[in-house]
Amino acid sequence: MYEFRFGGETLKRPAPDASDAQWADYRYLKVNKAGTEHEWWFHRLGCRRWFRAERDTVENRVLKTEWPG
Ligand SMILES: [Zn+2]
Repeated sequence: MYEFRFGGETLKRPAPDASDAQWADYRYLKVNKAGTEHEWWFHRLGCRRWFRAERDTVENRVLKTEWPG
């Protein structure tokens, strides 16, 4: 049982008239780039809220967290 649940990367939403391929990428693509990633996390054993985190994927270090909105 993990305290936090990974909610995926916060990708930029495609335009409404984007192609099916672009929407598929948006939904399923895993970027896995080396460097800073923006991700959603859910604090399941704590306040049970979603928050955004900026994480360095090379050092696996959280740089910053913020509440949405
Ligand atoms: Zn919390």
